[in-house]
Formats: sequence, C-alpha cells, structure tokens
Amino acid sequence: MNLGNVAKELSFIDFGDICKNCEANCCRRFYAVLLPEEELLFKESSFTVSTPLGAVKAIGSRNGKPCPYLSEDNLCKIYSMRPFDCRIWPVIMYYDLKTGDKVIYLDLQCPAVIKNTLSKEVVDKVIEVLKKIDVDEEWLKKYTLAPWPNTLKEITRINSPQNS
Ligand code: SF4
Repeated sequence: MNLGNVAKELSFIDFGDICKNCEANCCRRFYAVLLPEEELLFKESSFTVSTPLGAVKAIGSRNGKPCPYLSEDNLCKIYSMRPFDCRIWPVIMYYDLKTGDKVIYLDLQCPAVIKNTLSKEVVDKVIEVLKKIDVDEEWLKKYTLAPWPNTLKEITRINSPQNS
C-alpha cells in the first residue's frame, strides 16, 4: 500500500500518548472519508457514503463495527499509511457553502480537544499544511456534507479569494 500525496505532507502528525487508552474509541465509532487520490489505495476496504452532492468513499467504523484496520489492542494496523482524514482528526477542514471559505475546526468528539491536551505545535503545523495543500473543492463540499456529529469548534478559516 502506498501513501497518498496529501497524507505524505502530513506524515509528521503524531498525537503521541494522548490516543492510548482513550475512552472515545474514534476508530470504533467514526468513518474517515477518503480523498479521491486515496480511493484506489483503499478500494478493498472502503464503502460508500451518500451526501446531497454525491457519494464519497470512506473507511472505518460501519454498522456498529470498528474499522477493520483497528487491532485488538486498539492500535491502527496501518498507522504510517492511514489516510488523510484519520491523520488530521480531531482537526477537520470543511467548506463554507455560503462564503466559499475553507474552515478549520477542532472536533469536540475527541476528549483531548475537551481536555485541551493536544499539542498546539502539532495542530498549528497541521493548519499550515492545510493552508497550502490543494484539496479538490468539489470533494471538499461533499466531505463537508457527509453525515457527521458536527460538534465542532472553529479555530481558523482560509478566506476564499473573493473574500480576502
Ligand atoms: S485506518 Fe487506522 S486510524 Fe483510520 S479509522 Fe481505521 S484504525 Fe482508525
């Protein structure tokens, strides 16, 4: 398995010990939407998620079952190869359908966000990468509309060229 180009840019992300023994079990509860460039890499394990703008592909938890890549000791078996969405969470970047801005959030579903124990340095680095990567805008709109708890806290936004 190869690593997608966007995920490669984010290979520095490691939230370290924070995820160990976490009671949230994100890989048992949520799915990760695949970037178009990741769909082929994960075609054996992906499933379709419908959005009002069309379908996206995802891996992870489904029908109450954990992600097939989660080991019995709660570790990701493909950690160094995990896709973009797994990699950046609990950071999320959505498209603001009203303004065209890209909005970066922290997801309050992650206990480390609530407890404020995430490394600010790592989060800031993630934001810097998200500001410069070229994510397909049509995909980003679908990703934004894919069903999600949406308990999000905005941390910054990247203004669309018409708003800057
Ligand atoms: S690929 Fe790894 S990090 Fe992503 S949901 Fe599955 S087990 Fe979790």
